[in-house]
Amino acid sequence: MPVLPGSLSAMLTDYHVHLRPDDTGEAGDYFSELNVERYLAAAEEHGIEELGVSEHVYRFTQALEIWDHPYWEGQARDDLDGYVEFVRGTQLRLGIECDFVPGSEDRIANLLERDFDYVIGSVHFLGERGALDDRRYDVWESIPDPDELWATYFRWQAELVRSGLFDIVSHPDLVKLWGDARPQPRRDPRFHYEPLVEAVSESGIAVEASTAGLRKHVGEIYPAPALAEMCVEAGADFALSSDAHAPDQVGYGYDQALEFLEGLGVERLCVFEGRERRLEPIGRGDGAGQVTGSSEAEG
Ligand SMILES: [Zn+2]
Ligand SMILES: [Zn+2]
Repeated sequence: MPVLPGSLSAMLTDYHVHLRPDDTGEAGDYFSELNVERYLAAAEEHGIEELGVSEHVYRFTQALEIWDHPYWEGQARDDLDGYVEFVRGTQLRLGIECDFVPGSEDRIANLLERDFDYVIGSVHFLGERGALDDRRYDVWESIPDPDELWATYFRWQAELVRSGLFDIVSHPDLVKLWGDARPQPRRDPRFHYEPLVEAVSESGIAVEASTAGLRKHVGEIYPAPALAEMCVEAGADFALSSDAHAPDQVGYGYDQALEFLEGLGVERLCVFEGRERRLEPIGRGDGAGQVTGSSEAEG
């Protein structure tokens, strides 16, 4: 396999990973050595060298300083510093998936002043009744017009990018999640993507390629091919993730994702440490030998 100059070896990442499934259990059930081992074993199986976790900010009591939405109040039970300390004691990279809440930038910045390797920025809610992925607060009831909704969503995404608070913009077109179960915009989607792409090109934030969309109604990687092409043209770099909520979702759909990135001409992935980023060639690690040095492959 050809290796690009200046790099030791190709690698895969999975950074957008949740140790805890949505809505169930206690922190101790999931922030445990045994659970981490399950995730690491799954990563190894998929040739993923860089595995990081990014728990939802709203699972932590400290998040209520950012937003006091009833959904967050119901979810905020864990202690953020306990999570940071636990993950630091494992081989995992330490991340967090933090919602962008306009008007709370200072409080978000305060909360993020911890020892993270990377921060993933997300828009899941466009205001109080604005959930993009939760029927209980469905945004389609508050903004039923698809063009208005898409325009609003991508305006928020652009604002997230420009805030400078985040290293990665996650599931960049989450608004498409329900696929054909919701009305499609009348305008060419590229018109709606434009503000996000412009913000990305000016900021240097990494754009997440997420296989989570393959598991949702839309059945497609985030971002859509047209949005991904626009990001490439704008000079963006990509971070690859599965948004796993269980060990068997680590590296989910990566064959498809690799084909997708190759088709776009993307040859390198963003790799993070201590909120610094570098680019590494994309490829599956061969596991044995590379890490342990015990292989006899080099003759
Ligand atoms: Zn998310
Ligand atoms: Zn997530």
